[in-house]
Amino acid sequence: MNLSIVSRTLLCVAAATGFCSAEVNKAEKIAEDVYFHEGDIKGHGHCNNGWIIFEDYVLVIDGNFPSGAQEIIPKIKAITDKPVRFAFDTHHHGDHAYGNQVWVEQGAVPVAHTGVIEEMKKYETGYYGGKPGRWEDTAKNRPDVAASKLKPPTLLYDKDMIFDDGKHRVELLHFGVAHTHGDGFAWLPKEKILFTGDACVNGAFNYVGDGDTEQWVKTLAAAKKLGAKVICPGHGPMGNGDVLDDQLAFFESLRKEVKKYARKKPDEVKTAVDKIKGELQKNERIARYVGSGIAAQVEKVYVEMGGKPFTDKSAAAEEHWRHADAHGRELARRAGP
Ligand SMILES: [Zn+2]
Ligand SMILES: [Zn+2]
Repeated sequence: MNLSIVSRTLLCVAAATGFCSAEVNKAEKIAEDVYFHEGDIKGHGHCNNGWIIFEDYVLVIDGNFPSGAQEIIPKIKAITDKPVRFAFDTHHHGDHAYGNQVWVEQGAVPVAHTGVIEEMKKYETGYYGGKPGRWEDTAKNRPDVAASKLKPPTLLYDKDMIFDDGKHRVELLHFGVAHTHGDGFAWLPKEKILFTGDACVNGAFNYVGDGDTEQWVKTLAAAKKLGAKVICPGHGPMGNGDVLDDQLAFFESLRKEVKKYARKKPDEVKTAVDKIKGELQKNERIARYVGSGIAAQVEKVYVEMGGKPFTDKSAAAEEHWRHADAHGRELARRAGP
């Protein structure tokens, strides 16, 4: 662990929020041969990436969108001449997996938990022989997606997959359902660094449409047991272990607040969204997780607790366009890929 990460970690502790400012679109060395790159989600819908330089090859964390992959490839090449052999998709969403073909063209194999393939079969029906799915929808608004093709991961793990050259060790893990049904984590036990994908984010980026918040809490609790000192989230700045605690606290608080309305009618719950939002914002540890997705998050938890969706055009349907296909659709309209 180098000095800059130590000082940043200390700053995070001082702030007691787990939130740390970092520069978007900049490759940051966070340990020997380990890098973090915060993606430009606002401008291009990009996810965060990481990469680990092994003796013979590079393992990249997350495929990103095609334009996100193209953004970081020169940055990796500027650091090492070792080939990128593996691209790990933390889950199936476009902003984490649609760049796979770009990595394949670099000679890499896309890797993921088996649940990612199941999710792709469910949502990417165009590829699997059914009606056009999310890829085709996203391609209408993203030239980078339109110019590439969907490439599902071909190297899959069920429980875990380990990369270990004696110097570095990366364990790809799965703790159950969270943000999706195929969330993978990349754990570096020597450096105590955890790449979480969107199971843990650092800011108002929680899309809940493809997951289950009750399971999510359990999955985060299991990930917490690793004892990570550095959290590299799927979106937002990296931080110390508090980020995982704060993300967990957000879902626990959200579920607790919605539970108060579990037996109310959908319209009453919909009306209560602002009140719930206000309650969550009072807690400074989780306030940064409360954003425009709150109505969809409240609705999702309410439905999980036995309620009915708010209206025909539910908050979840609105929210779907904000993240699932993914993050980039509206953003792409405004800013290009
Ligand atoms: Zn996602
Ligand atoms: Zn994402």
